[in-house]
Amino acid sequence: MAKPKTRNWIQNHVKDPHVKKSKSEGYRSRASYKLLQIDEKDKLLRLGMTVVDLGAAPGGWSQVASRAVGKKGLVLAVDLLPFKSIPGVRAIKGDIADDRVVKRLQGLMDMKRADLIMSDMAPNLAGIGDIDGPKIMDLANLTMVVCEKVLKKEGFLVVKLFHHEEVHGFVRRLRTVFNTLKIRKPASSRASSSEFYVVAKGYKGCVRCCYE
Ligand code: SAM
Repeated sequence: MAKPKTRNWIQNHVKDPHVKKSKSEGYRSRASYKLLQIDEKDKLLRLGMTVVDLGAAPGGWSQVASRAVGKKGLVLAVDLLPFKSIPGVRAIKGDIADDRVVKRLQGLMDMKRADLIMSDMAPNLAGIGDIDGPKIMDLANLTMVVCEKVLKKEGFLVVKLFHHEEVHGFVRRLRTVFNTLKIRKPASSRASSSEFYVVAKGYKGCVRCCYE
């Protein structure tokens, strides 16, 4: 269950220019601007792509992706929480750690592979390193499992991480399975948040997986 927001958080949220902008531009969350700003730099989204959105609720990134991939593309969105449907987006409610959810995802993709995996998944952080580290790493590792199962060779990944000592090893591991890696902190990501994004391109494939 999500942690209750503090009064300070609510006051900052109400004043946030990206919150106001998202309302006027029809996006469900200010998070949309993080993806838009990353995409402006890294050119991830293209017409006709198949995109998997992990940690999709309430749907801001899925909205951006579905507009970008158009009618010939497909966006598959997974979250623990339900959210209102978005045209062109197929949603799965469930935990990405659950094998059945990954199988469902593969089924909806007709066993084809994705061009791009995006993960904006976030755990409830306690602000205590020993507690947060394993939760951050769990989600990061789960994202890699999804890459192994559904990402195309040469595919792209954008994944949210949080500064923590264990994360450095994960980024080093990513460097071995992708051709290029960029670290991004989009302007719309709050400076007070320890989140940042890794944009990886050119998936080399998983040695344990069978590519056709
Ligand atoms: N990208 C979203 C948007 O643009 O609206 C915001 C995502 S929000 C920051 C993080 C989401 O990750 C939450 O909705 C949470 O339920 C989801 N999440 C966390 N752990 C998850 C898991 N194991 N499986 C699926 N979703 C998860």
